[in-house]
Order: sequence, then structure tokens, then C-alpha cells
Amino acid sequence: MARPTREARIDLGALRANVRALRAIVAPAQTMIVVKADAYGHGAIEVAAAAIDEGAEWLGVVDISEALALRAAGISAPILTWLHGDDADFQAAVDAGIDLGISTFTQLDRAAQVDGHAMIQIKVDTGLSRNGVEHAQAGELFRRAAEFEREGRLGVRGVWSHLANAGEDEDREQLSRFDAAVAEAESAGLRPELRHLAATAGALSLPESRLDLVRVGIGAYGLSPFDRSGSADLGLRPVMELSAEIVSVKRVPADSGVSYGYTYRTPAETTLALVPLGYADGIPRAASSSAPVSINGKTYRISGRVAMDQFVVDVGDDEVTLGDRAILFGDPATGVPSADDWAEAAGTINYEIVTRIGPRVTRVFVP
Ligand SMILES: *Cc1c(COP(=O)(O)O)cnc(C)c1O
Repeated sequence: MARPTREARIDLGALRANVRALRAIVAPAQTMIVVKADAYGHGAIEVAAAAIDEGAEWLGVVDISEALALRAAGISAPILTWLHGDDADFQAAVDAGIDLGISTFTQLDRAAQVDGHAMIQIKVDTGLSRNGVEHAQAGELFRRAAEFEREGRLGVRGVWSHLANAGEDEDREQLSRFDAAVAEAESAGLRPELRHLAATAGALSLPESRLDLVRVGIGAYGLSPFDRSGSADLGLRPVMELSAEIVSVKRVPADSGVSYGYTYRTPAETTLALVPLGYADGIPRAASSSAPVSINGKTYRISGRVAMDQFVVDVGDDEVTLGDRAILFGDPATGVPSADDWAEAAGTINYEIVTRIGPRVTRVFVP
């Protein structure tokens, strides 16, 4: 079968190896693999199934609909979901055995009202200032939750928070606020079996933050959450390789304008290769004239602007033929650019590079 024109190759072997490596580091803490946003663009169902098969105890997603899609695909592992609009369908979540992250009194009351027995994990804001009950009000919310628990209306399985990665001192301050919140939960009569705080960065750099469970996203995809280290430094392998077939090759004279606005002009007679990936596919326009692309083992830079569907690469006098492949990023250990290189070229982070890869790109899963 021909390779898809635009392909994100998802190396499930690398994913499994990353899950194994991360689990070994954080043990005896449990591991939740975060598969929100279609597993950061990698394909939530396939990633979730492989991660669970590798021993991950939990899956994490943002929306209830993401969790229901996993259930519909036959995934029965424990799932936590945590960012809910006012009319989020708590009943559907409880019917499907999905844990609810609870951040407000209103959400707590709604969880107590659904038919069946909701399992909840209460999120405390220890300093990130996103969702979660303000730590000053956590005691009151815990008391109300304990009352619901005594009435048999719900169960409180966890208490959790999220680190801001603002620095080691700030992370430790959040950790101590979190410890105080857990003590309040206990004095309210709750016995949460899961206390969790760390994502990949905390799990790797702040061992005290591992507690009962870590929520790992980016590390499972083989990418580093740190500025100063790459995948290999952490013993991880990038899971996604993004490539496309070259769909046009042409010889042009010196001083030819290339792509919109002619921000690039050919310095001499040269060959231009056209790559059918653009900002509609998640290729950052900010990477125009800067991001690296590997063609036949050699690395070039994008020439001129990234358009909606395509960009151009000036390959000089090198031999490039229709049907050759341009590899945008993958595992740098194989000699191709990394998602980190792309992030740097586009002024962003590797998370955004992989997560934005759009639906026109065919995911090909390598077992
Ligand atoms: C996305 C997310 C994670 C995973 O973060 P990584 O840095 O990708 O490991 C963990 N917890 C919460 C609440 C998240 O939203």
C-alpha cells in the first residue's frame, strides 16, 4: 500500500518503552497517562490501549466526551476527566464509570445528584490559578463532600492539584499547600486513596511530588518538558514522525520569489521542492523561513512563508524527485530534526508542535 501523502507515523513501540521507563522511575507511585487532545495529536485510542497494556493504571482526559470516546472504543481502564462546562454530562460520565475531577461547590452538588454513585477526585488550586477549589475554601468543600459520602451519594477517591513549573521553590510551596489541603480533607473525614500533583516535569524533577500517582503526558510521547534537556537525556524516544511526499519539483532561475509575499528569493538558479503540509495541518506559520526539514538524509530550511496547505524548500542542486519524502520532525537519534527544533524555530514548545497536527494528516500506527 502506498504511504499516505501526509503521514504522522506513531511508533507505539517507542510509546510503550517510554511508559515502561517512566513507570520504573516513579514506582511505587501509579501512572496516569494523559491522552487529552487526541493524545497530544498521536491518536487517543491507540495510545490509551498501548499504555494500559504496558501497565499504566489510569488514563486522563480533559472533557467527558473524550472519556466517553475511549469507553466507546472498548477501553475499560480507570479514567479521570477534569475540565467541565456548566452543563457537562455528569450522568453519562457516571454511567460509564468515569471519575469526575471536581473543582467547585456547584460541580460537587451536581455529582451528588446524579443517579448511581459518582466517584470524584477533588482538585485544589495550590497556586496555578486555573481550576480547582481555592485552597482557602478547600476545607469547606471537603466537609460537604464528606457529608455526601456518608449519605452514600458519591465517593471521594482522590485529592489532587497541578504544579505551575514556575521554579523549584514555587513547586515546593505548592507541594506544602497541597499537603495542608490533604490534612484538611482527612480532618473532614475523607480518606482519599489517590493524592496527586505531578505531571511529567514534577514526576522527573521533584521526587517528593510523586505521591500516590503521577499524571504523565508529554513524557509518554517521548518529549521533554524541560528547556535544558531533550528526549535522549531523559531516556525517552519521540513517538511521532511527521512527513509528507514531495508533490512538485522544479528548477527555477536566480531571484525567483518564493511563496506569498516573496519573503524568500532564490540566490541562484536552484531546485524547489514543494511539501503539502501547511498551517491547516498544524505547521506553524511562525516557522516560515526557519524550521528544518530533512529530505533524503539532508537537512534544509523552509524557504519563504508557510501557507495553508504547503511550503517550499530550496534544495539547491541536490537531486530530489517527485515522491521523495520530507521529514519535518521525528526522533533526532535517526538524524532527522526534532519537535524541539521546530518549537525553537516557531517560538513555541514541543507540546504545541505535536498537538496541533491536524486531521488531514494520516496517523499510521507502527506496533
Ligand atoms: C495536560 C495535563 C497533564 C500532563 O502534563 P504533561 O506536562 O504533558 O505531562 C497533567 N495534569 C493535568 C491536569 C493536565 O492538564
